[in-house]
Amino acid sequence: MVLLKKSPPQFQNIGILEKIYPLYEKAMAETKVVCREKCADCCTCNVVVTSLETAFILHSMDTESLADLKQRLEEKFPVKRYIPKMTTNQFAAYCLSGQEIPDEENNPDWGKCPFLEEDCCTLYLLRPFGCRSMMSQVNCGKTGYAQVPPLALTITNIFLQYIEHLDYKGFSGNLSDMLALDIHNYEKPDTPRLFIRNMKIPRLMVPPEHRSAVAPLLKQIAALT
Ligand code: SF4
Ligand code: SF4
Repeated sequence: MVLLKKSPPQFQNIGILEKIYPLYEKAMAETKVVCREKCADCCTCNVVVTSLETAFILHSMDTESLADLKQRLEEKFPVKRYIPKMTTNQFAAYCLSGQEIPDEENNPDWGKCPFLEEDCCTLYLLRPFGCRSMMSQVNCGKTGYAQVPPLALTITNIFLQYIEHLDYKGFSGNLSDMLALDIHNYEKPDTPRLFIRNMKIPRLMVPPEHRSAVAPLLKQIAALT
């Protein structure tokens, strides 16, 4: 893949996004996980992504990679897939105001991610945060669930909230739906049922016991802008 130097003006924050991903990797470097190459049980068709991350993927690809992506979407578009009803920052806002969280349907058995090929990610260098943050201290394929230390979960939530905040004028949706949208329709998706408006951070979801541990990281994130 060829990374393009220029990004469209509505996605100026792509440059910050490119710094966020390695910062997250650094923040999680000490977390012991069993994840390894070709371990892909977490690569389902249920990944959620922001419009900023989608723009990063689409605008970083050369013609050949884009053609492959389009072909995969045409051949393997998941009929049944997770359609989120709220973003991470909306979830935080609901919790703050004591509103009831809507029920959501999500099932890993709905199928593999269309971008998985022989248990390897064809978007690996460009994969969205939802993929980068999938990790576990036990083998998910065997246990059926992931095990993540509480501090790692808090750190992941901070990054999720921050990435959405960066893209507060955009929206979020299932990776397949987002990549299938024409990039010029990002301002006005014509199938709103599939997409949710992003919002700014109402408050970071950091439990009291993690506040001092994440304070240096919050400064590093703030320094990116
Ligand atoms: S999250 Fe689970 S399935 Fe995914 S790489 Fe890690 S251990 Fe494997
Ligand atoms: S985009 Fe790549 S890393 Fe993400 S779920 Fe699909 S195959 Fe896995």
